[in-house]
Amino acid sequence: MNQINNSTLTFQCETGNYHTFCPISCVAWLYQKIEDSFFLVIGTKTCGYFLQNSMGVMIFAEPRYAMAELEEGDISAQINDYEELKRLCTQIKNDRNPSVIVFIGTCTTEIIKMDLEGIAPKLEAEIGIPIVVARANGLDYTFTQGEDTVLASLIQRCPSKDRETEKINKNNSSLFPSLSIFSKNKNESNLSQDKPNLPLVLFGSLPNSLTNQLEHELEKQNIKISGWLPTKNYKELPVIHEGDYVCGVNPYLARTATNLIRRRKCKLISAPFPIGPDGTRAWIEKICSIFNIEPTGLDEREKAVWDSLENYLPLVKGKSVFFMGDNLLELSIARFLIRCGMIVPEIGIPYLHKRYQEAEIKLLEDTCRKMQVPTPLIIEKPDNYEELKRIEQYRPDLVITGMANANPLEARGINTKWSVEFTFAQIHGFSNARDILELVTRSLRRKNYIQQLGWKELVE
Ligand code: SF4
Repeated sequence: MNQINNSTLTFQCETGNYHTFCPISCVAWLYQKIEDSFFLVIGTKTCGYFLQNSMGVMIFAEPRYAMAELEEGDISAQINDYEELKRLCTQIKNDRNPSVIVFIGTCTTEIIKMDLEGIAPKLEAEIGIPIVVARANGLDYTFTQGEDTVLASLIQRCPSKDRETEKINKNNSSLFPSLSIFSKNKNESNLSQDKPNLPLVLFGSLPNSLTNQLEHELEKQNIKISGWLPTKNYKELPVIHEGDYVCGVNPYLARTATNLIRRRKCKLISAPFPIGPDGTRAWIEKICSIFNIEPTGLDEREKAVWDSLENYLPLVKGKSVFFMGDNLLELSIARFLIRCGMIVPEIGIPYLHKRYQEAEIKLLEDTCRKMQVPTPLIIEKPDNYEELKRIEQYRPDLVITGMANANPLEARGINTKWSVEFTFAQIHGFSNARDILELVTRSLRRKNYIQQLGWKELVE
């Protein structure tokens, strides 16, 4: 650890020559989240091989995603794209009857300029199923940004105020003309509405157990959200009104945030992300501040979580961790680990939207100051080759990296943690801070054990 940057956060940019997952991988968690959806990835065998291998055992569980594999004839425009997609969508409709089909554009559809956005509305009208197009290709995006492209496309399908009001008016006038008569008394009806929905929509795909936890934390502060993008079902997409507040739960959703601001005229709450007890607390506090609510009980809540982590903290305290960067969660996880007592010399990150991550960047700086550790160097679009040279120089205690570099580094006596696990593990909210440290300390604990056996480096 001989070269660490002592000033404020420094940002640099390298060549973008790094390993990561292709953004089409987002279908794996989005099809599970949106239970009535079907994802059709329109690409080549390269995309198919990637999905088949990266998703592991999931592919044996009849997933609700499929490949539309382009052939020579498609690429040379000898086959009619529209007719081919119509055939596939009809088959999907007959076999699975989803509420929405999401077309995932790939590198090939970009390069041959297949007009998916033009085809989708015609096809939608013909087969009667909504078709959403997301260009989650490897030319423009990285791994988790795939979700960003899908959510950004779903925004235009979220109902507006008019539709909602229309529905309520219709229901009230036809089915329940005198609903108030059935209420037992006025106080009781007020009780059930003691927490009215605030004009706040959260965005980011999390497992339902996690969305419930976060909603519950907000409800403790008297904040009841009006919706969540995405929802469990496509048919229940949240109503978004002009002027609503929106707040993200994941650091890679900059495009979704931009679309909500520009297209739906929403107001973005720029808060740190609810990762780690410090981040979760800051996230809740920021939302409370917007609605002029004095947060209560957060001190005790946060302290209880830190107390519950006491078995893990001595294992990480004073240890250094190097992020090679591949999933855009890096800043939030690094900030939490610094708060746990770790030192972070460098954070690689594929893409940094400074405005969207503004509050997270600020919290990272504050955390470094509070913990009195040097601020990390942030490298956007890192170069894995250069990073490996710096790792050799620093010899950090832990490197968070993809599978391509993990085993070679382990063989050279450098501890690693596979970064993809952070994407699929439950890391949000107060109660899941333990899971992050469980992941981070696993290889440190293993190393202690292996060193007892006398094995240090396995490569000459
Ligand atoms: S990078 Fe492009 S070609 Fe490769 S799997 Fe992703 S979309 Fe397909």
